[in-house]
Amino acid sequence: MAKRDYYEVLGVSKGASDDEIKKAYRKLSKKYHPDINKEADADEKFKEIAEAYEVLSDANKRAAYDQYGHASTDPNFGAGGGFGGGGFGGSGFGGFEDIFDSFFGGGGRARYNPNAPRQGEDLQYTLDLEFEEAVFGKQSTIRYNRKQECETCHGDGAKPGTSPVTCSKCSGTGSINVERNTPLGRIQTRSVCDVCNGTGQEIKEKCPTCVGAGHVKDRHTVKVTVPAGVEDGDQMRLSGQGEAGKNGGPYGDLYVIFRVKPSKQFQRRGAEIYYEAPIHFVQAALGDEIQVPTVHGKVKLKIPAGTQTGTTFRIKGKGAPRLRGTGQGDQHVKVNIITPKNLNSKQAELLREFAKASDISITEEDGSFFNKVKDVFKKD
Ligand SMILES: [Zn+2]
Ligand SMILES: [Zn+2]
Repeated sequence: MAKRDYYEVLGVSKGASDDEIKKAYRKLSKKYHPDINKEADADEKFKEIAEAYEVLSDANKRAAYDQYGHASTDPNFGAGGGFGGGGFGGSGFGGFEDIFDSFFGGGGRARYNPNAPRQGEDLQYTLDLEFEEAVFGKQSTIRYNRKQECETCHGDGAKPGTSPVTCSKCSGTGSINVERNTPLGRIQTRSVCDVCNGTGQEIKEKCPTCVGAGHVKDRHTVKVTVPAGVEDGDQMRLSGQGEAGKNGGPYGDLYVIFRVKPSKQFQRRGAEIYYEAPIHFVQAALGDEIQVPTVHGKVKLKIPAGTQTGTTFRIKGKGAPRLRGTGQGDQHVKVNIITPKNLNSKQAELLREFAKASDISITEEDGSFFNKVKDVFKKD
């Protein structure tokens, strides 16, 4: 099959700027990378794209290609062209790979490509919420530091107009073989290439903005819509708001974790809200209508005559919204009956009357019902 024109492969014009070429390459290599694209011809396309880019991103090679076409990329081509220092160094390498494979169960490790696009790291952000904010939701703007793709070099770390080149020491594999003499003989081990730090690419002229890193630390701002009904510990994933990827890979994600402050008066489990209402024993005995706070405002609650302490009443629809579902939970009101302290003489007298009318006899230290009430009263 005849080779396609490199400009056509990258979908750019003959006069395309270095920046346009770089952008086109990043877009296409992301699309056709065999780790991402599972179509049968993705591998072929990816190689074609990489080859076109290798030539068009290098001023000398591009000039040669413009003049001589594909012939300029032949390794035996004379002036200025050809891939420099390419190919795997020596036949021993292949053999070693095989041994390495058998040690590690084969496959993945040996095929590791240091230049494959990789997604950036995920980040975590803890967002503090007031009790009511969790119930009703809110709009929030959060700020945090993250690695962002360098806008000057679009992430490859090279000075605009230049490109990273294949590492001359490791031939782009990112690892080198080191031989050691041991009592058992010569042992070959593989370690990360010290020239390119495992990336397989050398940046000869670094981008002035990021000094070759390809990314810059930046203060990043994101608007977060906290959904109504979230609970303490719930988390929300914001796609693409994590750190910049490598080799044109996508950004990681941001996980926003909600930390909800407890309320002084309410407890919450899911959409249900719990509240304890103190009521006087007279209210409990005679019945009453009381005002109860809810997150939706005050609500009237009927206390029937003869209510016992610990009784729970349900106020429909006054809880929190259901995060996964529709409608709202209820508020549960547990009444705690309060025994009055510090009775004045009038109150004490009336209670004595009440006791008599109820046939309640209270044994006192000296046998007298009245004295006991008096003593209790004196203490205060
Ligand atoms: Zn290297
Ligand atoms: Zn840069």
